[in-house]
Amino acid sequence: MHDTHLLRNILKYFQEQEELTSRKIKKAYFSISEFGSLNKEHFLEHYKQLVYGTRFQGLEIAVKTIPFGPELEVTGLEFVGETEDRKK
Ligand SMILES: [Zn+2]
Repeated sequence: MHDTHLLRNILKYFQEQEELTSRKIKKAYFSISEFGSLNKEHFLEHYKQLVYGTRFQGLEIAVKTIPFGPELEVTGLEFVGETEDRKK
């Protein structure tokens, strides 16, 4: 099986989180397992294809490689207008 199944739910997840918070995502944080089927460059290629032409295309992203853990995970989201001292 190709690795794109790992990315399949990302857009859906983004949409759900925006609906839940009524805010737009500004930045997404990902972690990738060092020993998984994706490396960072390969992930970025797929990610760019995935978001191309969608409203998430301009999102800032940060990708961290981890020694252990899930192959691919969204570890955090930053929303537009979010500030440090304000809680949901
Ligand atoms: Zn691939």
